[in-house]
Amino acid sequence: MPRFAYFEGAIRPIEEARISVRTHALHYGTGWFGGLRGYWNQEQGQMYVFRIVDHFRRFLNSGKLLMANLPYTPEELAAITLDLLRAEGYQEDCYIRPLGYKADEVIGVRIHDLHDAVAIFATPFGRYIEDEEGARVCFSSWRRVDDTALPPRGKLSGSYVNSALIKSEAVLNGFDEALVLNQDGHVAEGSAENVFILRDGVLITPPVHSNLLEGITRRSVMELAQSELGVPVVEREIDRSEVYVADEAFFCGTGVQVVAIASVDHRPIGSGKIGPVTRSLRDLYFRVVRGQEAKYRQWLSPVYEEVAVG
Ligand code: PMP
Repeated sequence: MPRFAYFEGAIRPIEEARISVRTHALHYGTGWFGGLRGYWNQEQGQMYVFRIVDHFRRFLNSGKLLMANLPYTPEELAAITLDLLRAEGYQEDCYIRPLGYKADEVIGVRIHDLHDAVAIFATPFGRYIEDEEGARVCFSSWRRVDDTALPPRGKLSGSYVNSALIKSEAVLNGFDEALVLNQDGHVAEGSAENVFILRDGVLITPPVHSNLLEGITRRSVMELAQSELGVPVVEREIDRSEVYVADEAFFCGTGVQVVAIASVDHRPIGSGKIGPVTRSLRDLYFRVVRGQEAKYRQWLSPVYEEVAVG
């Protein structure tokens, strides 16, 4: 359980971070959020937050979609988060949740002329999907929200009703997760993660205009696959049936990390087990986020003071 939260401009005991039932964002979904992970490295006695400034840049952009004008830079929000994590003193993996919201206690649907607030807390966190080497996946009967109605490129609280409909349908039908098609009938992403398929040695992922969240893990995985594994990556539209005949498929995202897809709609993907490219990428991803790959240390922000070794 978290002991602290950043709330109303200061790090406070989490019991003090409470809002009214009249809060605008609670009624109308006029909030936005982020999701980051802190990785504990036991040997180094260090916690690393993955791509903290990139996450806060997207967080502020999500707010922009709701006409929020927050008096913070991404770097300032990153510094607050590192202070918060030092206050918590976690020595285990954790998940960090920044939340922006229209804080007025007022009735009336709109996004302008309202006050914007920011809260941040961090909580110990492990797996998001139980079987990380073989998720059982279906195609959702829902469609992904469309940019013409509710922009999926922002992490807007209201649009997570769409994600929740997708996830619950999948889980109640016995699956771990779902893929969702966009309004054009092409693959968009999972309920809260981006997707890649492998065909003939090429990784393919839907482009940013396919109505998906512009994932930071997605971007990282693209770079790692190309630079470190020599696997080409192509961004293009993917049909539902193309997933069925893929050699490998996986989800990626901050929460899910890198999770192999074993089957889709009861059809095994490739061998029906985690494939070699997914395994290599997944192993590399975990080494990178945990601070075991010097080349990618610039993606990591250490939480605790770094002690010189030797
Ligand atoms: N798509 C959706 C809908 C998500 O909620 C997330 C999780 N933030 C992702 C993709 C993955 O994004 P990221 O890698 O930045 O966590």
